[in-house]
Amino acid sequence: AAEREISFFFPTECTLAVIKPDTSEELREEILGEIRAAGFTISWQKEMVLTREMAEEFYKQHRDKPFFSYLVDYMCRGPCTMLILSKENAVEEWRKMMGPADPSKAKETAPGSLRARFAKDVLENTVHGSSSSQHAQEKIQLLFGEISSESQVISTGDDDEPNP
Ligand code: UDP
Repeated sequence: AAEREISFFFPTECTLAVIKPDTSEELREEILGEIRAAGFTISWQKEMVLTREMAEEFYKQHRDKPFFSYLVDYMCRGPCTMLILSKENAVEEWRKMMGPADPSKAKETAPGSLRARFAKDVLENTVHGSSSSQHAQEKIQLLFGEISSESQVISTGDDDEPNP
């Protein structure tokens, strides 16, 4: 008998989310729980403290803004939780869940959003999310791309060896 398979295909999209260093361990867990409850799959997760260089690269589009050096200081202050999230329409859905950068605006226009509830001010605003698929790919490459080279160094123990 012919097998009949009924499958539903939901196109998924990836985005990069960051839980920034102003969060407590407890708040981080709460945010992770809300992310899962909202139907995102956490495809990859890691904690890391950004170097200044990486933070500057990460936010390079804001290089000329007056808040740039404060932003870099803040992002390097402690560990960030880096997440690759996937879901249908992930970029937009995660931006919606975060709310606007400025929590006073978030409280007015998106009172249930993470920033409305948890952000301290327009700088220390708890979470980051890529604004487009392309940005997501770039930042994922920046933050997670090094994993492969790191593990390569660890696994071979000799990166001076020329490739065969
Ligand atoms: N930021 C700031 N002052 C501002 C605007 C932004 O300190 O007036 C910081 C804030 O941490 C924000 C980040 O810079 O999340 C990037 O700003 P953007 O406008 O790209 O907002 P986002 O994409 O994070 O919503």
